[in-house]
Amino acid sequence: MGMPARPREVTIKRPDEIARMRHAGLILVEVLEALHRELRPGITTADLDAVAEQMIRAAGAVPSFKGYRGFPRSICASINDEVVHGIPSPRRRLYEGDVVGLDVGCIWQGWHADAARTWSIGPASRQVQELIDATRRGMEAGIAAVLPGNRLGDVGAAIEAVAHRHGYGVVRPFVGHGIGTEMHEEPSVPNYGKPGTGMRIETGMCFAIEPMFTLGRDEVQLLDDGWTVVTADGSLAAHFENTVAVTDGAAEVLTQA
Ligand code: MG
Repeated sequence: MGMPARPREVTIKRPDEIARMRHAGLILVEVLEALHRELRPGITTADLDAVAEQMIRAAGAVPSFKGYRGFPRSICASINDEVVHGIPSPRRRLYEGDVVGLDVGCIWQGWHADAARTWSIGPASRQVQELIDATRRGMEAGIAAVLPGNRLGDVGAAIEAVAHRHGYGVVRPFVGHGIGTEMHEEPSVPNYGKPGTGMRIETGMCFAIEPMFTLGRDEVQLLDDGWTVVTADGSLAAHFENTVAVTDGAAEVLTQA
C-alpha cells in the first residue's frame, strides 16, 4: 500500500527491531509465492485474498491492510488499468492476458512489512512484459540508491530514470514511505526527484520502495469505491514494492527470499 500517513518523525530502528521486520517480510515472501502459484484464469481476487489472509494468520501475524482506514480485505488486487488499492471481490475473475498487481502487508510482533508484485495471467505480450520488467527494475534501481548519506531525491531520480528510458508514465500521487511500527511512517518516498535533494538517508531507517509505471500518461483517478486507483487514460499499469532496511553501507531487502 502506498499512502502518506499523518506527519511523524522519521525513526531509526535497532537491529532487533529490524529482525522482527525481516520476519514479517519473510511471511510476505511466502504469501506472494503462494499467490503466484494460484494465479490462473477463473480464479477471483477474493480467492487470492482468502489464501493470503489464512497464510498470514497461520504464521502468527496480522494482515495490516484489513481494516486500515476501513479497507475491507487483506490484500490489494489491481487489474490492468487499476494501478493500486483494488479491492478483492468474488465478482472479479482473472482472465488470460490480464495483468494483476498484488500488494500485501502484515504485522509480526508489532512490526510491519509491505510488498507487491505484478504478474500476467498466461503469457504477456512483449510490450506488457517490458512494462512489468521495467517497473521491477525501477524498484531495484531505487533500492540500490537507498544508501547511508544518499538523499531521497537520489532514490526517486533512480526510479524515474528507468521509466523515462522506456517512455513510461510515473504515477506521482502515490509514493513509497517509511515503515516500522506503523505501515505508513514518515518520510514519503516519491518515485521521482532530483539527485542530491531531500532528506538524508541514515543507517537504521526502513522504507517501502514502490514504483508504479504506466504504458501511457501518469495521471490517475480514484474510483467510486473510494479505494481503487486507475490510470486516467485507461493505460496498463504495473506496481512493485519491497520493504528495505538501511544497514551498514547498503539496503537490505526484507521482502525477498
Ligand atoms: Mg506500501
